[in-house]
Amino acid sequence: MPIGDINAYENAMRQFDQAAEILGLTDDQITMVKEPRKITEVILPVRMDDGSVRPFTAYRVIHSRMRGPGKGGVRFHQDVNLDEVKALAFWMTIKSAVVNIPMGGAKGGVIVDPRELSDRELENLSRRYMAEFMDDMGPESDVPAPDVGTNPQVMAWFFDTYAMHKRVWSPAVVTGKPVELGGSLGRPAATALGVLYTVREAMRVQNIDRAGATVAIQGFGNVGSHSARLMHEDGMKIVAIGDASGTYVNPDGIDVPAALNYAEHNRSSLFGFEGIVKVERIERAEDILEMDVDVLVPAALENQITSQNADKVRAKIIAEAANGPTTPNADEFLAANGTFVVPDILCNAGGVTVSYLEWVQNRMGYYWEEERILSELENIMVKAFQEVNDTAQEYDTSMRTAAFLVGISRVNRVATHRGLYA
Ligand code: GLU
Repeated sequence: MPIGDINAYENAMRQFDQAAEILGLTDDQITMVKEPRKITEVILPVRMDDGSVRPFTAYRVIHSRMRGPGKGGVRFHQDVNLDEVKALAFWMTIKSAVVNIPMGGAKGGVIVDPRELSDRELENLSRRYMAEFMDDMGPESDVPAPDVGTNPQVMAWFFDTYAMHKRVWSPAVVTGKPVELGGSLGRPAATALGVLYTVREAMRVQNIDRAGATVAIQGFGNVGSHSARLMHEDGMKIVAIGDASGTYVNPDGIDVPAALNYAEHNRSSLFGFEGIVKVERIERAEDILEMDVDVLVPAALENQITSQNADKVRAKIIAEAANGPTTPNADEFLAANGTFVVPDILCNAGGVTVSYLEWVQNRMGYYWEEERILSELENIMVKAFQEVNDTAQEYDTSMRTAAFLVGISRVNRVATHRGLYA
């Protein structure tokens, strides 16, 4: 169980309370917006390759359908727990509202290390997940997507299981699918593109020159690796990358194409990378958070920057590509220190934004060119950044609190229009 300042759900609720107080929400308004609406926990029996049946604990939390159907990824990870899924579902509600897409918030998770499963076992687990949660899923009720440990193939199995049970062709039930199955062009790099767009805006308002700006990236999965590629292509200097295997540093700039190629052929891990190109390996994976860089991109899991290490963070901008990487205690410290934090619910919203565009295309049955998707994404992200930045100026708060102010007031306004049924 999480200790100290690292219970993600308590942290999320602290963020909510702070913003609700500034907005002056009443107790009734808080009741309508704050807590999750539906929490489901099931045991999935899964047939393993040796013929045995193994039980996996699985969750789906629908936090809010106030502004649209439940929306959010499904995480396969050994450390998944209910408080984490509740926090992630809450953040999805606010994230959708911050970028103003007509979606609510939800999240799912399974306690499993997917790297320990064969492809067949992973397929059995994925299909069983959809079969168990299907009654609540659908294009107009709850729409899952990829998250840590899941990918387009898992989404394809979700789609097929739903289609077989319901006897319908309904690609909008899940986003992040392979393109051949109605997935959107641009979806795999969408979260990282959103990170790039918001980092560019942050540099603009902070008067930091983009050319040669130094960057450290924690995590080299989907979001971290695409962020490294896009920021490198944009002329920034990636001086450190890292994952659970360690931190890899080169003050002259890491050969990013070589790192991408290496990870692709090494089961997405950077382990052993120092033997391939000129980088120094630092044993402690956490050291990447303390690098003296212009931009730090935490692109791994929650609770990385905490009250234990916030005083050692030296980056000018923190771009939260992961969900919940900074605890509220650390946040207070960073704000007092003048660090410019682009909060997760804004910074990484590019993923759910293109998921929304995928859902729109699925419902039309008409598919756009990549160019159109990327320009819609850029418009949405830049507009959201500006709205949050304006709100931060108006209320004299951090970007995080401002993002909560924008998101919560949007949900609250819809709640007011809708009223309480019966
Ligand atoms: N898992 C991603 C997130 O945390 C994407 C969710 C989605 O596309 O629905 O934002």
